[in-house]
Amino acid sequence: MKIFDMHTHCFPDALAPKALPHLAEISKSPYYGSGTYSDLCEKVLSAGGSGAMLLHIATKPSQMTSVNNFAAACQHGNFYSFGSVFPTAENAVEELHRIKELGLKGVKLHPDYQFFFVNEPAVFPVYETAAELRLPITFHAGRDPYSPDTVHCTPEMLAEISARFPTLKIIAAHMGGMEMPDEVEKHLLGCENVYFDTAFATRTLDPDRCGSLIRRHGIEKVFFATDFPWSTIEKEMKLLKGCGFSGEELEMICHKNAERVFGISLV
Ligand SMILES: [Zn+2]
Repeated sequence: MKIFDMHTHCFPDALAPKALPHLAEISKSPYYGSGTYSDLCEKVLSAGGSGAMLLHIATKPSQMTSVNNFAAACQHGNFYSFGSVFPTAENAVEELHRIKELGLKGVKLHPDYQFFFVNEPAVFPVYETAAELRLPITFHAGRDPYSPDTVHCTPEMLAEISARFPTLKIIAAHMGGMEMPDEVEKHLLGCENVYFDTAFATRTLDPDRCGSLIRRHGIEKVFFATDFPWSTIEKEMKLLKGCGFSGEELEMICHKNAERVFGISLV
């Protein structure tokens, strides 16, 4: 079976040796590999993966150009990238147009590292433009160790955004909300334009809970993902395989949904 990992991270070679230990210190998480692009590709392929989506994050307005240029340089073979905008930057909407021109597949927003709440009107122009340009947005959803006391993207807020922007494709990372499965159940399951990725689901969910959330949300709207280098294909696949899905259902989650939604075909 082909496996496409819908949520991975890497850094430019010169930054990786500092960036990864720094983030690990903040999140108190172990990590796997060196954080570079070549290491990511090698780890995905050696774990039996076919390819991956690389999610990049601009943590200040001045980073947008370099982050998106790096994202574009990472697109090769079965490896694709999302770009990023700093959503409250003056030129965020302009940069979305450049993301589209660069051929990037979507936009990653991380409200904890970008200091905004997903339902604050100041960032609505970004959602409007992304919807117009048909750029899906992956949101880091739920808790994050970087901002332990304030959740900037709750399942309830995402449900509000999904209703307000019905043509925007929303990917709620971490099964709709890291460490918030009760809220996901209450607010987000079944929302039409909301997709989930399974990134780091092992952190919060057991196979029964994970399988039930996926079934009730809709198997055609869930993407297999790891959050590499914070988790691995081996660990996250073990959880997914324990959920009791049929072979065809696993094919959908592991690669067919991503191929359909992003118009790619894995080679
Ligand atoms: Zn991530």
